[in-house]
Amino acid sequence: MDFKEHVRVIENFPQEGIRFKDITTILKNGQVYHQVIDSIRDMVKHLEIDLIAGPEARGFVVGAPLAYAMGVGFIPIRKSGKLPGETIEANYSLEYGNDKLAMHNDAIQPGQKVLIADDLLATGGTIATSIDLVEQLGGKVVGAAFMIELTYLNGKDKLKDIDMFSLMQY
Ligand code: AMP
Repeated sequence: MDFKEHVRVIENFPQEGIRFKDITTILKNGQVYHQVIDSIRDMVKHLEIDLIAGPEARGFVVGAPLAYAMGVGFIPIRKSGKLPGETIEANYSLEYGNDKLAMHNDAIQPGQKVLIADDLLATGGTIATSIDLVEQLGGKVVGAAFMIELTYLNGKDKLKDIDMFSLMQY
C-alpha cells in the first residue's frame, strides 16, 4: 500500500510556509490505519521493549495502538498542567512554537526499555524532549518510531545513537 496517498498535505498551516502533513485522512480509514500501525509494529518488533511513550496528541494515536498491538503499556507525555499526578517536566521547541512537556514521575521504573512513538519527526525537538523525560526517570530509550519523517529538517540528528524508524519520508 502507498501510505503517502492517504496523507493530506495542507499548505501554510498553522502558519505561512509550513506544509502540514494531515494524518486524519489515515485515521478515518480503518483499513489504512490498521495497516499503518501493523507496518510500524513490523519495523520495531525486533526491539526488546517494556513500554511505549508518546507525546500528545498525535503521539497517542500512533503510540497507544502500537502498544496494544505489541502487548506493552503506554505512557502519555502531555503538555504541562494536564496530567493529574506528580510530574517531571522539560522544555521543548517545535517547527512552529515553544512549550513544556510533562510525564508522571512514576510512569517509568529505572532500567525499563522505552520506545517513543509520534506521528511525525520534524525538527526533532519533541522527541529530544520526550527522550529527556524518559531518561530523567532512569528509563532507556531503545528506539523512536514515526508514521512520517521530514528528512529535510534533519530531526534524526537530535536522536543521537537511538534507532529511528519511519514509514514515510518527505
Ligand atoms: P518536531 O518537534 O519539530 O519534530 O515536531 C514534531 C511534532 O510537530 C509532531 O508531533 C507533529 O505532530 C508536529 N509537526 C511539526 N511539523 C509538522 C508538519 N509539517 N506537518 C504535520 N505535523 C507537524
